Amino acid sequence: NPVIHCEQVVRSYTMGAASVQAVRGIDLTIGRGEFAAITGPSGCGKSTLLHLLGAVDVPSAGRVLVNGRDTAQLNDADATAFRLRHIGFVFQRFYLMPTLSALENVELPLAEAGVPKVVRRRRAAELLGYVGLGERRDHRPTQLSGGEQQRVAIARALANEPALLLADEPTGELDAATGETLLQLFGQLHRDGTTLVFVTHDAVVANTAQRVIRLLDGRVASDTRNPRA
Ligand code: ADP
Ligand code: ADP
Repeated sequence: NPVIHCEQVVRSYTMGAASVQAVRGIDLTIGRGEFAAITGPSGCGKSTLLHLLGAVDVPSAGRVLVNGRDTAQLNDADATAFRLRHIGFVFQRFYLMPTLSALENVELPLAEAGVPKVVRRRRAAELLGYVGLGERRDHRPTQLSGGEQQRVAIARALANEPALLLADEPTGELDAATGETLLQLFGQLHRDGTTLVFVTHDAVVANTAQRVIRLLDGRVASDTRNPRA
């Protein structure tokens, strides 16, 4: 099975009498271990598509299969369990728990997965070290910069060692040096076999990806292999 398979996917939003088609018939297959960037102008449907791929949203028409599972067939509890097992998601806003420390935030998905406390503490600390925040583990989100919060969100998304990592503008808030560190981290994850799908405006990130999928008005306008990656 490919990690992702989309067939004629449509997602429309209805607001009162008006309806917007954010995604207008996308066919897309992403194989295991690929590193793909989704680009395109604001409003072209990138975030909507990413939410569909992450099983946090379901299509209005067509099918999205993730690891062969039709996401529309999962009830809420199944979808949560499915995401926990297979998918790491870094949202554009970080959705960190404000009352928890960085370490506790990274531990959350491990706790949900039933990992014992000692083990998850150690793993969360490792992950924070991995994203360069070893010294910030006891800080709360409000005590961290935007870039640091983003790195906590990335560490949290990696906690369950997901086979598929989805991220919406993962380097959006970062200074150049931190962005570079993260690109190296993504490269390492890619070499380790993780499938990466990122929404990005950042040309540097797009150039690091093997494959660049460009959306326009809710459709795939181009899908190219990057010869440099
Ligand atoms: P992008 O991520 O490329 O900026 P989005 O997927 O966020 O694009 O949005 C695509 C289109 O769908 C836009 O016209 C946007 O206004 C609309 N849209 C996105 N989310 C919603 C929503 N929850 N309700 C209504 N319209 C939405
Ligand atoms: P914007 O693109 O305007 O910055 P947000 O970043 O707030 O919007 O939200 C982006 C998308 O994330 C929205 O389409 C929203 O439906 C979705 N979203 C918001 N909160 C959550 C959440 N807790 N879990 C999953 N998806 C969420």
